[in-house]
Amino acid sequence: MASAALEHVWKKFGETAVVKDLSLTIDDGDFVVIVGPSGCGKTTTLRMVAGLEKPTDGIIRIGPKDVTHLTPRERDTAMVFQSYALYPHMTVFENMAFGLRLRHLADDEIKKRVGEAADMLELQPYLGRKPKALSGGQRQRVAMGRAIVRHASVFLFDEPLSNLDAKLRVEIRAEIAKLHLRLGITMVYVTHDQTEAMTLAKKMVVMKDGLLQQVGSPLEIYRSPANTFVAGFVGSPSMNFLSGELVSVGGAPHVKGEGFDLPVPAASRAQLGPSGSKVTVGIRPEHVRPAAGAVDLQQSVEVVEPLGSVIHVLGTVGGRPFTSAVEPEVVVRPGERLALSVDHDRMHLFDATTGVALGKGPEARA
Ligand code: ATP
Repeated sequence: MASAALEHVWKKFGETAVVKDLSLTIDDGDFVVIVGPSGCGKTTTLRMVAGLEKPTDGIIRIGPKDVTHLTPRERDTAMVFQSYALYPHMTVFENMAFGLRLRHLADDEIKKRVGEAADMLELQPYLGRKPKALSGGQRQRVAMGRAIVRHASVFLFDEPLSNLDAKLRVEIRAEIAKLHLRLGITMVYVTHDQTEAMTLAKKMVVMKDGLLQQVGSPLEIYRSPANTFVAGFVGSPSMNFLSGELVSVGGAPHVKGEGFDLPVPAASRAQLGPSGSKVTVGIRPEHVRPAAGAVDLQQSVEVVEPLGSVIHVLGTVGGRPFTSAVEPEVVVRPGERLALSVDHDRMHLFDATTGVALGKGPEARA
């Protein structure tokens, strides 16, 4: 096991920078998930840690050692690819053993390591089969087994679940989490799926356009997103955004816009601009409820999605898209208006121009 670090790492392809001044520490035994939309530079980052891509600038360390200029073989990393990258003509056993043979390990040691990995991943019955005779989930397990037998210090996963159907994704996701608990190995995992990131990460790294947006535990990021991009990316259904203006109501700051008037939580007030400043209000669908008393928002209802445990109500507030997540008992129909109250302490405010969070966010306030 080992820690890893990226220090001011840049990657350019021609003139285009796809990773920009990225600094990140990965602790020994950590489970770091790098998440962001397609093309944000996640895979390139992972490939630089593996040694498959050379940084244009900056330093990469595995443990304290500078490995920036070492080949993949000289680094103590093992990578699991989205495509599995199994050899079709080799059996499961040989696929798992291949890397060890290249390293000239003794036959007994190879058998022992492949056996242990096969036990762990329930692959024993398939060791004699070729990959084409396996299901997608089994192939992905073989790809993980091939990494496990290496006893590498750092495991790198590049979207390992994206070729699997939804049910298998959930199953293998749980297996990866168990594997991490059991082996305590340092893992770096890349995905564009925020649910995968939230459920697996100890430390979540959100990227956009090659730039680091925020690092923190999944809950920290959910509760205190640093900007509107992170706020909209993390959480499902996505956070709602409304345009508003700061006003003073009886001496207390409020944020007012079309279809809403909300008091600003006390702890956010210090960072506010003067009355008249434009702000973006962020309200998560799960932080509203049908109003019993005072009404904060009027939602025009367009679509009602009953999911059993919750109802997602899609519509608009003041002409802007707005989704609320309400209890399954609530009776609501398309075409109606739904009067909502907002959990004021969990509402987010962002600078309307920069999108940067104002105040420290609900997490820090609690
Ligand atoms: P995805 O989720 O789609 O895999 P990603 O966040 O992993 O996206 P990268 O694969 O790291 O993104 O790619 C980042 C950017 O770099 C993209 O715009 C991509 O087109 C570009 N890129 C990646 N590899 C190369 C290359 N070898 N040559 C030129 N451009 C590249």
